[in-house]
Amino acid sequence: MTPKRTESIREGKSKILYRTDKPDTVIQYFKDDATAFNAQKKGSIKDKGPINNGVSTSVFKFLEKNGVRTHFLEKLSDREMLCRSLEIIPVEMVLRNKATGSITKRLGLEKGMPFSPPLVEFFYKSDALGDPLIGEGHIAYLKWASKDELNQMIETTLKVNTLLRPVFKEIGLELIDFKLEFGKDKSGNLYLGDEFTADGCRLWDLKTGESMDKDRFRQDLGKVDETYLDVSERLQNYFKGKL
Ligand code: C5P
Repeated sequence: MTPKRTESIREGKSKILYRTDKPDTVIQYFKDDATAFNAQKKGSIKDKGPINNGVSTSVFKFLEKNGVRTHFLEKLSDREMLCRSLEIIPVEMVLRNKATGSITKRLGLEKGMPFSPPLVEFFYKSDALGDPLIGEGHIAYLKWASKDELNQMIETTLKVNTLLRPVFKEIGLELIDFKLEFGKDKSGNLYLGDEFTADGCRLWDLKTGESMDKDRFRQDLGKVDETYLDVSERLQNYFKGKL
C-alpha cells in the first residue's frame, strides 16, 4: 500500500515535511515558493515543486546507484517524496569548485577563481542567525557530529561532486558549488538528506557562463521559470534509461 502523509512536522522555505502512516518514514512535499537572502526576498517559480522533486529523485537514485547512502526511498507523486526519517545534523556542507556567492564577499575573492581540489565549508543551519560559517572545532565542541561522522560527511560531499560534475558537464553545465545536508536514523546510520536541486547548487552554462540556477531568481536575471525547466529536462534526458 502506498504510504499516506499524516500531520505536518514542519514547513520550511521550499518544502513541507509530513509524518506518514509507515514507520520511520517522512514525506517531503516540494512547494513552488522561492526565497533568497534568508527569506528577505520571496516569490515563486512556476512548477518548481514538481521540477525539484523530479530532479532530486533522479539525482538521489543516481547517487544511490553509485554507493552514496541517501534518505530517498520513493517518489510518491508530482510533489511528494518518501524518505527515511532522519535527525538532521545542523551543519550545511558547502562544496565549491569555483568562487562565487558568499565566499567572494567574505574573503574578497574574484568570482570564478577555481578551487582545485574543491573547497568544503561548514555553516550552522540556523535561519535566526543567518546560517553563519563555522569550523570543525564548533562542530566537535557543540557535539553536532563526531569526528568520524564529520569525516564521512566530508568524504561523501567530495564523492557527490566527483559523481555529479561529469553528469552536468555532459548536459552543458558546470557545477560551481552546492550545499548538502546529512542526518542520522534511529540506529545512528548517516544518510545524505534534504534535496539536490537548482535551488541549492550553482550551475554555469559551459558555453556562455550564464547562471542556470537560483541565482537567476536571487539577482533578478530573468527567465527563471524557463531555466528551472530547461535544467530539469536536460537532466531527465540524460538519466533516461540509466537509473
Ligand atoms: O551563498 P553561498 O555562496 O555560500 O552558497 C553556496 C552554495 O550553497 C550555493 O549553491 C547555494 O545555492 C547553496 N546554499 C543553499 N542553502 C543555503 C546556503 C547556500 O542551498 N542556506
